[in-house]
Amino acid sequence: MKPKITVVGSSNVDLILKIPRLPKPGETVLEGEFSTAQGGKGANQAVAAARAGGDVHFISRVGIDDLGKNSLTAYKKDNLNLDYCVTDDAASNGVALIFVNAKGENSIGVASGANGNLDRKQVRKAAHVIESSALVLMQLETPIESVEEAITIAAAAGVPIILNPAPARVLDDNILRSVSILTPNETETEILTGISLTSDEHIRRAAQSLLEKGVGTVIITLGARGVYAANNDTNAFIPGFTVTPVDTTGAGDIFNGALAVSVAEGKSLSEAIRFANAAAALSVTKLGAQPSAHHRDDIEHFLRTH
Ligand code: ADP
Repeated sequence: MKPKITVVGSSNVDLILKIPRLPKPGETVLEGEFSTAQGGKGANQAVAAARAGGDVHFISRVGIDDLGKNSLTAYKKDNLNLDYCVTDDAASNGVALIFVNAKGENSIGVASGANGNLDRKQVRKAAHVIESSALVLMQLETPIESVEEAITIAAAAGVPIILNPAPARVLDDNILRSVSILTPNETETEILTGISLTSDEHIRRAAQSLLEKGVGTVIITLGARGVYAANNDTNAFIPGFTVTPVDTTGAGDIFNGALAVSVAEGKSLSEAIRFANAAAALSVTKLGAQPSAHHRDDIEHFLRTH
């Protein structure tokens, strides 16, 4: 049976315009090429977890507009349970407006829209879903009160919590104390700990400082290098898989979605990290975030052949 995983987090639509150069104030640049993509760290991780083999319940908030409607349609195709994914009755959907120039540089504006209204009350309504989950997965793209409420509910019910502390911000120790697995990348680790990761020794020290704050296990993701994982019993650098990267957008999101599934299935930490490294490596061989989340069969095939 698929493990039940609750993801609490953001849902966005990326509106992407590839243009020859980034417009200056007052300037109009023609010859754009437009595309849209489902995004938001919450949605990316929920979709990644569903494709990797989870029975995913997505607690999120979409806009009353067409972007919100289209998002729900897309999530249904990925079999996300949307019982507690609310359509806001006033706010527009979260959007990222992204200009990309010919050199691949970008300029991005974000409106969190409906995500900004994902409050304590909405999460509390879904308490029974969280309590009956094998695991809860969260990020920091929705108001901190939504994260705090989900943590309170999960911790009281003994449900393990994976927190991907992205985008980077400083966190209270009472949040960190309840987290089973914290998955910062290098930048997020530096902001959480105040330690610059200039050497392996600094990576070890930063992980140790997070363990001292009460986190159960710290997994620092290190891009192509893989991860450094530490808890009170063990610590090790675990290499990633070598692939030819096409687009690393969302690698961390795919890693977290896959990790959640494997941990919820009761796999050992090293097995779960291997599975997540494989899912993330596969994702960087394809453009985009959600489009690059592979299905379970592909991830297992990759693991068998690498
Ligand atoms: P984020 O996307 O949050 O910045 P990272 O860059 O640390 O996170 O990547 C997350 C994970 O994705 C890594 O731990 C690794 O498993 C995988 N990954 C990222 N970049 C590559 C790459 N170039 N080749 C193989 N795996 C990668």
